[in-house]
Amino acid sequence: MAQRGEVVAEVAARTGTPAYVYFLDAIDERIAEVTDAFQRRLELSYAVKSNPHTALLRHLRERIGHLDVSSGGEVERALAAGWAAPDISFTGPGKKPWEIEYAVTVGVGLLIVESAPEMRVANEVAERLGRRQRIAVRIGPSVVPRGFGMSMSGRPSQFGVDEELLPTLVPVVAACKSLDLVGFHVYAGTQCLSADTLVENFQLMATSFERAVAMFDIAPTFLVFGSGFGIPYYADSTPLDLPALAERLLPILETFRGGRYEHTRLLLELGRYLVGEAGVFAMSVIDVKESRGRQVAICDGGMHQHLGAAGHLGTVVPRNYRMFKAGDTREAQTEAYEVVGPLCTSIDTLGRNVTLPVLNVGDIVGVECSGAYGPSVSPTHFISHPPPVEVFVRDLQSSTPHIAVIADERPHFAAHAAWQAEHAAFTTPVADA
Ligand SMILES: *Cc1c(COP(=O)(O)O)cnc(C)c1O
Repeated sequence: MAQRGEVVAEVAARTGTPAYVYFLDAIDERIAEVTDAFQRRLELSYAVKSNPHTALLRHLRERIGHLDVSSGGEVERALAAGWAAPDISFTGPGKKPWEIEYAVTVGVGLLIVESAPEMRVANEVAERLGRRQRIAVRIGPSVVPRGFGMSMSGRPSQFGVDEELLPTLVPVVAACKSLDLVGFHVYAGTQCLSADTLVENFQLMATSFERAVAMFDIAPTFLVFGSGFGIPYYADSTPLDLPALAERLLPILETFRGGRYEHTRLLLELGRYLVGEAGVFAMSVIDVKESRGRQVAICDGGMHQHLGAAGHLGTVVPRNYRMFKAGDTREAQTEAYEVVGPLCTSIDTLGRNVTLPVLNVGDIVGVECSGAYGPSVSPTHFISHPPPVEVFVRDLQSSTPHIAVIADERPHFAAHAAWQAEHAAFTTPVADA
């Protein structure tokens, strides 16, 4: 049975570094864990923006029911990866008219509307195309639990319709004759590792949903719970105890049985929790030098390829993602390192005072929790280094894991190009473009 570290070393030897290595078995296990923990009461929806690689989207297509996208470009990616439009929901502030038109044209299952003006645009588009579009309203909750990482509600926000303003939306929904309101959505924060906070957030979401359902007087088809489930990026992070958490969340969902909720499907929207821990960022040590009493390991990967590990630009107190030395770990002696990349800026630091087995030039360092928010959120053009390769590993349990470098089938925004060319309705599905 192969170990992750050995496979990372083998990948580095075969394909070179810097490389993102995604362990697909780990994703499958996570999907099974979540599905079991919630006793199939919640259907899973994957937030594409956390890792939009088309090979990953293809892998997920056979394993979960829904994709949530945040742009027209992500709609294209999902379709290119073989997803059926009805299984796609489209969320996000500032949807441009061409994106809405594109989404309606290809037939996305659910357009998640974030404001009254956006709803009117969607209605005009659907009407002009002679279509009916199913929508859900994203609610910006008036209260979010304290300590919700990267909280995005409870203060002025571009996300969703303020809960306080929902009554003003009732006549707008009634006037939008080409739209069918079929549900509600909340995603109010993320990267939460506290079960108490997540339970509180679920209670708040459930209350918001109940009020909204009564206010708009609908029998919802979909209620989308933005999970906010976090992953253990740092050495001192305690991972969620999922079975214990689910045991506390399931009773909250009992509200949504019978009556108006007879046909309601409950979706759990997850990004990093599904794919984050399945990825390792592998880099090679290019140089090791001493500077002012500290060993500095200069690697070929850096913040241009892994912005998250470098602290997402704005982190006040930088914390180190968990790291390991891959391959030959017989070296028992350890040393404290500044782990840095090759860029001409001091913010290109992935780890401060990291204890690792002694590093030499050519050694491989792996960064954990790199499966989400990796290449796609990183400034890969900065200083003209080549992009990292992305490698997919299956069958880790076997003696010969399957390792494949898969190029992203990044579609070149065919839909947008068509829009610019025509300034009119899309008629060409992406697949044929
Ligand atoms: C980004 C996003 C998610 C996923 O967030 P994670 O923290 O990766 O789980 C889910 N839903 C929406 C609407 C998002 O924008």
